[in-house]
Amino acid sequence: MFIVLKKQFLMIPGPTMVPERVIQAMTRPVINHRGVLFEGLLKDCTQRLKTVFQTNNDVILFPSSGTGVMEAAIANFVGKNEKVLALTVGVFGERWAEIARRYGADVEVVATEVGYAIDPKVVEARLAKDTNHEIKVILVTHNETSASVTNDVQAISAARGSHPALLMVDSVSGLGAMELKTDDWNLDVVVAGSQKSLMIPPGIGVMAVSAKAWAKADVTDNPKFYWDAKSARKALEKWQNPYTPPVSLLFGLQEALKMIEEEGLATIFVRHRKLRNCIRAAAKALGLKLLAQDYCASNAVTGIYPPEGVEAKKVQKIMRETYGVTMAGGQKALEGKIFRIGHMGYCAISDVMVTITMLEMTLVELGMKVELGAGVRAAQQEWMKA
Ligand SMILES: *Cc1c(COP(=O)(O)O)cnc(C)c1O
Repeated sequence: MFIVLKKQFLMIPGPTMVPERVIQAMTRPVINHRGVLFEGLLKDCTQRLKTVFQTNNDVILFPSSGTGVMEAAIANFVGKNEKVLALTVGVFGERWAEIARRYGADVEVVATEVGYAIDPKVVEARLAKDTNHEIKVILVTHNETSASVTNDVQAISAARGSHPALLMVDSVSGLGAMELKTDDWNLDVVVAGSQKSLMIPPGIGVMAVSAKAWAKADVTDNPKFYWDAKSARKALEKWQNPYTPPVSLLFGLQEALKMIEEEGLATIFVRHRKLRNCIRAAAKALGLKLLAQDYCASNAVTGIYPPEGVEAKKVQKIMRETYGVTMAGGQKALEGKIFRIGHMGYCAISDVMVTITMLEMTLVELGMKVELGAGVRAAQQEWMKA
């Protein structure tokens, strides 16, 4: 294929593309993290984050990847030997369950076949049997990036009824791409990361904590120092972090949160849903099989099986090396079996159209009988729907 100039499209489910405005903001000179300018910055970021989390709960921030803040949640809110119900629909759900195990929790897993979401009725039935309230914490992944499945967190929360277990939600790849109402849905702990839908580089983990969760932190005695959420809450009284924060990333976060405010959460959620619909329509038009079922398909990432007899990694390689479009592969059991298109954060319909266009050419190059333009047309029609 004759391609000399190659533009880069980062179509993976995190880290995601960072807007020019955010990059500019991060090039400002570093400031004193104990000074008045920083306090204004952290206060502004925290208040804006609360809008995105749709919460009045405390929102604290750790310099870490998403996994760091998942571990912080376990260290602070899950006691040793406590019974934990882990709802897992993929790799990140399994990871959270494993972190809880390493902290000595007694973890019971409720899992699904890949591509399916947790059935809230199963949760309801399990909790109804737990008449002595032995289950102290429920872990759930909002948007399971590995399976490109979104769990119905609202329904799962409601399925608790009057059961007192804390509900902890990993929304690392969900927050900012799809509806998440921390307060209305009664979510005790929600964790998220900077490098997915929040449009900044990796390095900040955020956590929203309810009053009920804080009360539990008071009686949870895992050893912790850096990850102590109560230290972070205390420092926040002065709009500071207990330890040196990633100042430059916070400049970026502030700018990204301004962009989110400008576009509006509701509009952002519609954009993500439409991007998903376009990609799924294109995949179907090209005869490709999708990983996630329609009813629970993620608005932020889409896993796709390559055509019969074609290696997923070959598709990724041609896309990347010939066309500059980087997609992700499958994780763990799905490694080499699927490719995933990330469409979260700073992702426009133009990025998705480029990806579909190049995917069609790639499939032709791999010898598939694909009608050029079929996927593009399906996506265009989907996008132009009211
Ligand atoms: C990306 C992601 C994480 C965290 O991954 P890190 O690489 O540690 O940032 C956790 N959960 C989900 C659902 C994710 O998508």
